[in-house]
Amino acid sequence: MSEGDVILFGNGKLTVPNRPTIPFIEGDGIGPDIWKATKTVLDRAVEVVWGGNRKIIWKEVLAGEKAHRITGTWLPEETIEALHIHRVGIKGPLTTPVGGGIRSLNVALRQRLDLYACVRPVRYFNGVPTPTRQPDKVNMVVFRENTEDVYAGFELKEGTQEARSLIAHLKETYGWHLPPDTGIGIKPISRARSRRLIQAAIDYALDNGRRSVTLVHKGNIQKFTEGAFRQWGYDLAKELYPDRIITWDECNGHPPIGRILIKDTIADIFFQQALTRPNEFDVIATTNLNGDYISDALAAQVGGVGMAPGANINYQNGYALFEATHGTAPKYAGLDKVNPCSLILSGAMMLQYIGWGEASALIEKAIEKTIAQKTVTYDLARLMGDAKEVSCSGFAACVCENMGEISNLVL
Ligand code: NAD
Repeated sequence: MSEGDVILFGNGKLTVPNRPTIPFIEGDGIGPDIWKATKTVLDRAVEVVWGGNRKIIWKEVLAGEKAHRITGTWLPEETIEALHIHRVGIKGPLTTPVGGGIRSLNVALRQRLDLYACVRPVRYFNGVPTPTRQPDKVNMVVFRENTEDVYAGFELKEGTQEARSLIAHLKETYGWHLPPDTGIGIKPISRARSRRLIQAAIDYALDNGRRSVTLVHKGNIQKFTEGAFRQWGYDLAKELYPDRIITWDECNGHPPIGRILIKDTIADIFFQQALTRPNEFDVIATTNLNGDYISDALAAQVGGVGMAPGANINYQNGYALFEATHGTAPKYAGLDKVNPCSLILSGAMMLQYIGWGEASALIEKAIEKTIAQKTVTYDLARLMGDAKEVSCSGFAACVCENMGEISNLVL
């Protein structure tokens, strides 16, 4: 009975069997350590909640250094195929091969599967050391567009024939004068791709009882890309959800009960307000590069990327890949030392996504309890002073033990 079943998708919904096969990419560097800890916690949570009635059947797929070592390629086609077939997967961090034929494996995976929404919830866990005074006021979910903007890869190196020819074309056709030693990057922001991202953010806000969606952009300067993103957002909200949303102008920032506030802010001032008035922000919808900066800055407010989970999702076909938001931290590889919370919490997001919310909530509660007991890995212990430092696997064991105790009380 070891074979699992495929997760299906139809009419905008996943159908999840009791024994779904879920592909995982272990990851490079610290990947194997945090993956092992994560798998232990996810399996235990499912077992605690449903006994033997539900179980994830894990299927290893290769990417990164392990794939290169075994198959000679960094991202084998079988991996993409398995993620297509099984629809929902999870991954550890991957090394970006320097000088290889691939820009970034993470970007490649997101683009090959068209995972257009990068979703990063940012919340505070009591007791985690942070650089800010009121981290508990941060509770946001960032929806970052994942497929276009300056990440599209349309760049021409300074001095090349291609760059010279584009410079000449721009001068001839538009009268734009660029210095001859200019490197050029193109920033495409399209209506359809902006709309699907913003729709995902609004749907999430409506489904999860959130208060507002803020469009974060740099439209004062980049009018036809970032500014258009903002306008398309308002247009979409009014067109698709006329009775469920209200804009700032319509209510002066005070939405009536039952309606979600749609507002916007310019990216630079957002960084300031997110620090000084974090409770005024809830769901954030933004373009790719803004989203990259914003998600790391917000994560720092609540204790750093070691605690921040993430997912890349296509809500139109259900494909989703959950991942730690930090990198491979190579100097800690194999030491069983680092903090596994980012990947464990990404796994909890995955359980929520497939409709196994009870197990997801149990994991979050157990992590809360473990940190409140001051049992943490080195990165938090060194900032907490009076904490008990445990290894990566030791932390997972404490979370599992706490899940057992919590479930005795509530299940
Ligand atoms: P990094 O996130 O790997 O590590 C930076 C530092 O952060 C580490 O030295 C460590 O001190 C700390 N850190 C990271 N994760 C931690 C954890 N779980 N617990 C405790 N401390 C932790 O960033 P980097 O050094 O810039 O990148 C290393 C490699 O990772 C590069 O090849 C990069 O391309 C790749 N990377 C991958 C992803 C991804 O797979 N999504 C994301 C970022 C970077």
